[in-house]
Amino acid sequence: MPHVISDLNEIRAQVLAWRAAGQRVGLVPTMGALHAGHVSLVSASAAECDRTVATIFVNPMQFGPSEDFSRYPRNLDRDLELLAGTKTDVVFAPATDKMYAAGHASYVGVERVTERWEGAIRPTHFRGVATIVLKLFNIAPADIAYFGQKDYQQTVVIRRMVADLNVSIQIRVCPTVREPDGLAMSSRNVYLNPDERRRALVLPESLREAADAAAGGERDAAKIARQMRQRIESTAGVSLDYAAVVDPRTLEELTEITGGAIALVAARLGSTRLIDNMWLGIAGSGDGGPGSVKPAASPP
Ligand code: AMP
Repeated sequence: MPHVISDLNEIRAQVLAWRAAGQRVGLVPTMGALHAGHVSLVSASAAECDRTVATIFVNPMQFGPSEDFSRYPRNLDRDLELLAGTKTDVVFAPATDKMYAAGHASYVGVERVTERWEGAIRPTHFRGVATIVLKLFNIAPADIAYFGQKDYQQTVVIRRMVADLNVSIQIRVCPTVREPDGLAMSSRNVYLNPDERRRALVLPESLREAADAAAGGERDAAKIARQMRQRIESTAGVSLDYAAVVDPRTLEELTEITGGAIALVAARLGSTRLIDNMWLGIAGSGDGGPGSVKPAASPP
């Protein structure tokens, strides 16, 4: 089992001691309920860092009042068992009242790239994400932090924050890990009943169709987005929040694909909300994994 630290001063001292000894430290922030997607971030860290810190903290600040904070899956023992099979050196799992001490009144606000898509539907979400991520970077000042492409807009927001606030950490974005049938792995997939789980496949399927269309030479971004929307909207039991083809840096909707483009989707199945995305490219497409040619975008 990896060593668990809950104390903020202790994790900071540990990370600083490793760095003082010339070791490179990787940080993998998570909310627990770990799966192979999280493990891939740990593997990416272990491949280029001497030490890997995984953090497990269900951050109340990034959940809206009517969202799933209280029912979000939590199982530290199971998470530790999963991490025992990885090269995680330490798990940082703080208590909520230590992360947000009485009187906490500071927030990180990132503008523009937070306005659309997830930000439009979850108005305080990215404020919570940016705040906790900056706090984690300060508490565990690693060399490199690892995030998943699965939450694409989040990676754009974090890169923007790191660039704007001169945070001394490198950001890596790792490909989305999928179930064998294509559904993006997510801690929220456990909410889906078998029927919803089947219907959820329309998300990766519509993205794959979009990527295939772009790879086949379709340049009309609005047309590709319309096809995704039609396909999702015509699936019973799936309620579309958005499907769009956007500029990977600004997240603004594209009319024509001339360079990098990314397709974003979000939909609800019953009380479960899922998001997914895929690169659309002229020379290739996909998740940034094998066969893909699109690197993760740097800030606008
Ligand atoms: P979460 O615990 O859901 O907040 O996610 C923690 C980190 O894991 C974030 O950087 C996510 O983007 C990443 N992540 C979640 N699901 C996947 C996945 N299927 N593939 C790759 N990374 C993922």
